[in-house]
Amino acid sequence: MKRILIVEDEPRISSFIAKGLRSNGFTTTVAAEGRSGFDYAMSDEFDLVILDIGLPEMDGFTVLDRLRAAGNRVPVIILTARDSPTDTVAALEGGADDYMSKPFRFDELLARVRLRLRVDHSPEVVVLTVGDLTLDLRTRRARVGARSVDLSAREFALAETFLRNPDQVLSREQLLSRVWGYDFEPGSNVVDVYVGYLRGKLGAERIETVRGMGYRLTDAEHGTPEAEVDSDA
Ligand code: CA
Repeated sequence: MKRILIVEDEPRISSFIAKGLRSNGFTTTVAAEGRSGFDYAMSDEFDLVILDIGLPEMDGFTVLDRLRAAGNRVPVIILTARDSPTDTVAALEGGADDYMSKPFRFDELLARVRLRLRVDHSPEVVVLTVGDLTLDLRTRRARVGARSVDLSAREFALAETFLRNPDQVLSREQLLSRVWGYDFEPGSNVVDVYVGYLRGKLGAERIETVRGMGYRLTDAEHGTPEAEVDSDA
């Protein structure tokens, strides 16, 4: 569960934010002045800080300055007054990740919170999945359903290119340049040969030949688009 620190001196606003965040599955802590807000933020117990500018004891700019000066990179969303655009600029230059102008709708704040948490904390995608076909980019393992499949390095690279572009037609030239680099002439049939290997290992129906254009990875589980008839029709 993600923990969010709210540094805000107006109880009406802090409880509005805290209530909304809790009902969306976050845990919240409220600090009503800057000095304790800074101490909480430095504790490493929070995934994100929502920081007001006008605060007793220590203002939001100072809190942000001190955090960044101490090497603390916790994502910070600043709350600014709509009538002071200079505050916004100063906040972003001071190391804030985003800002909200007061007054705001809760949905707007929630969207920014989710965005910041994803950007700053989600690991890079390491598993690609289309239907029951899975490639783990870290272990270099391929699976079809529960069955693990041995792929050579080149087959794996070709499969990865298809899984990164599902349902798109990839021409032989595109596949050559992405998987083989400069090693082969444009007229080479190596792509067709390796598509044949992949079909043999992953299932022939997964990789469609699009005549005169190239190849396309399809989701074998979900059948052809014609099968998905709109029930309203
Ligand atoms: Ca305030």
